[in-house]
Amino acid sequence: MFPSKKYRIALISVDGDPAVEIGQEEAGGQNVYVRQVGYALAEQGWQVDMFTRRSSPEQAAIAQHSPNCRTIRLKAGPCEFIGRDQLFGHLPEFMAEFQKFQQLHGYSYPLIHTNYWLSSWVGMQLKKQQPMIQVHTYHSLGAIKYSTIADIPPIATQRLAIEKACLETVDQVVATSPQEQQHLRTLVSRKGRIEMIPCGTDIDNFGNIERLQAREKLGIAPDAKMVFYVGRFDRRKGIETLVRAVGESSLRGKANLQLVIGGGSRPGKSDGIERDRIANIVGELELTDCTNFAGRLDHEILPFYYAAADVCVVPSHYEPFGLVAIEAMASKTPVVASAVGGLQFTVIPEVTGLLAPPQDKLAFAAAIDRILTNPDWRDQLGAAGRQRVEIAFSWYSVASRLTQLYTHLLAQPTAVTQKKAMMAA
Ligand code: UDP
Repeated sequence: MFPSKKYRIALISVDGDPAVEIGQEEAGGQNVYVRQVGYALAEQGWQVDMFTRRSSPEQAAIAQHSPNCRTIRLKAGPCEFIGRDQLFGHLPEFMAEFQKFQQLHGYSYPLIHTNYWLSSWVGMQLKKQQPMIQVHTYHSLGAIKYSTIADIPPIATQRLAIEKACLETVDQVVATSPQEQQHLRTLVSRKGRIEMIPCGTDIDNFGNIERLQAREKLGIAPDAKMVFYVGRFDRRKGIETLVRAVGESSLRGKANLQLVIGGGSRPGKSDGIERDRIANIVGELELTDCTNFAGRLDHEILPFYYAAADVCVVPSHYEPFGLVAIEAMASKTPVVASAVGGLQFTVIPEVTGLLAPPQDKLAFAAAIDRILTNPDWRDQLGAAGRQRVEIAFSWYSVASRLTQLYTHLLAQPTAVTQKKAMMAA
């Protein structure tokens, strides 16, 4: 049920601009989540202001997406890209700008939904100064991230402490998978309120294209066995495992095996460095002829790639949710994914795809080969994936569940003072 009154709410994503191009350095699932949730909530009656930091002078301070939904870019440090691990010191300025924005426009947000630990800090500080409800989505957990990397950044201690304080004090944490919910409980804190509401995908944008039609558009041969990856170039994404798995495939040299790797990168930046590392491995394994680095793929062309693929591989070391898996499933393409985090929730082994232990190139190779060598089964897995996404993972259903949650929180007696502060549209 949609709220009868249009409340003005704020989605805060300091580091993940919902209006930027996706698929490059540090712009991925969080940006997509905030944007799509914002759009869908606006369609369901909320006045949605999405706050982020301005990271380039070319960016508009305000981008209006629909009558009820806009991105607002606040000043927080120099107007340039700053990596997440360097942003903490700029948060007080972001918070002050947020408050200035409220004052200037004469309203006070009764509910904020913060995203990632940096924004959780902003929310917790704001809550000390004005009555408001805070909902939080983590998108990534320091406790897991730091257990998988060798170079732990100096900000780690602060991040872990803030993630714990957030779970224990905000009005509601939204976990995007049962696995994330469990990790929050076992690795972060036993205190605090958690509800599981998954991520979603655009079921109208994905799933309308036939395989051969997509291949014709992309210039991929009808008989090719196409293995597809899309995502950021980041070691955590495990692209190396995929490349090594293709190197081990029993189809290598026998069928027209093609590996397509999609995702943006910039020379000299962390994603460019990872892309070069992956390209070197491709070269060492003599896979250059059958590998195509497709670059950043926008959501106009991406549905063609998913549709053209025989299998989409998500080889991440960890994934709290993993949007790519459900985008592929929405496109009727089976998924081979690491048996980690939210991928164990979205991908049903033997039904919508297969799971393999992370970083296990032989297990990935075997799973990929099973699908590539059985086109009827591939189609069955694809159809089941589509069905699962339609039932469980549309942005519409995600926004409906968030609407229910927000409405419930705003109706609680403790929220009376906040209600008074609400601004009608
Ligand atoms: N993406 C994209 N174009 C690219 C690379 C990635 O649109 O070239 C999108 C992809 O479709 C998905 C998101 O970026 O919506 C990645 O989200 P995911 O949860 O899989 O990973 P994250 O980036 O959050 O680690």
